[in-house]
Amino acid sequence: MNIPYGRQCIDNDDIEQVVEILKSDWLTQGPAVEKFEEGLAKYCGISYAVAVNSATSALHIACMAAGLSEGKRLWTTPNSFVASANCGLYCGASVDFVDIDNKTYNMSTAALADKLERAARENTLPHVIIPVHFAGQACDMKSIYQMAKRYDIVVIEDASHAIGGWYEEEKIGNCRYSDMTVFSFHPVKIITSGEGGAILTQRPDFYDKLIRLRSHGITRSTQLMTEESHGAWYYQQLELGYNYRMTDIQAALGASQLTKIERYISRRKEIVAKYNECLKNLPIALPWQNIDTQSAWHLYVVRVHENIRKQIFDALRQKGIGVNVHYIPIHTQPYYQRLGFRWGDFPVAEQYYRETLSLPIYYGFSDQQQEYVIQTLSEMFR
Ligand SMILES: *Cc1c(COP(=O)(O)O)cnc(C)c1O
Repeated sequence: MNIPYGRQCIDNDDIEQVVEILKSDWLTQGPAVEKFEEGLAKYCGISYAVAVNSATSALHIACMAAGLSEGKRLWTTPNSFVASANCGLYCGASVDFVDIDNKTYNMSTAALADKLERAARENTLPHVIIPVHFAGQACDMKSIYQMAKRYDIVVIEDASHAIGGWYEEEKIGNCRYSDMTVFSFHPVKIITSGEGGAILTQRPDFYDKLIRLRSHGITRSTQLMTEESHGAWYYQQLELGYNYRMTDIQAALGASQLTKIERYISRRKEIVAKYNECLKNLPIALPWQNIDTQSAWHLYVVRVHENIRKQIFDALRQKGIGVNVHYIPIHTQPYYQRLGFRWGDFPVAEQYYRETLSLPIYYGFSDQQQEYVIQTLSEMFR
């Protein structure tokens, strides 16, 4: 067997949608991107969606739209992919972390409250906070947003794991408790466009800015121009933007996948239920599910004793089971250590890292494959 920890599911219908675009007049950002954006906004129940070429780009321009710049600070969780923090550095800002909650593995609201209080006294408050819905389970957004608003901080949800998930009665992506939400459409995520990402927001000012930043800072809107248009060819560059455009090829795939998202999520829930039932007697910690959230289940993470984690990881890999580890705490990366961070700075995230294992979970993961994973893992504890 050769089982990855995550994998896309592409069916004939997806392929047809992409082929249609290849035969059309547009390849780069065009009508299919617009359609995908409309689909995302409608799905999440929000006014605006901006599709870009990755979640990394999305985080970057979301931070720019939020006004993050040199001399300002961004806070995020150490238990994430490096992109959640790098976006702050791209803006010339400094980055710091808030340790995680030992149950949810998300940013701890208690640690955040403490850190904010201290920062308020020392005049070192952040300009932006990026909570990450780790594994698909929503952070405690109500508390985070309330705290952030008290200090006038912009909240950007990194929901790369969480499209299709819920927080209380709210769908992730509706920005009820944030200023912007970012999704990733990388192939291991819930839905894919090959590479791709999106920013969702309710704020027209952020939307206008994001639209420009993904395409060089250029506008063709005459209302925004600093002088009268020279003619139909005329455009103006108003700020320094990038080429972060998504192609219509990618958008057609993303839009096609979006129509099947409920099926994807419910299959993930089935896989979770089976893992929960079949692994409950092993000496491992199973994922904690907050009762007020519905995870999108991007990842299924378990914790084993730190002394046997590597051994179990290697043995499962040997058996063709693509386990993985999410995440190496960002602050322990050499690049971040050069910025002054040290092992020991965020002890809860570090201890979690020593014990964690991500088991395979994806739409096309069969019952038979899952039974093989469960059996192989169970035998290791015999
Ligand atoms: C995957 C991921 C990203 C980056 O997504 P890309 O689309 O690959 O740029 C950012 N944050 C988190 C939490 C992720 O899992």
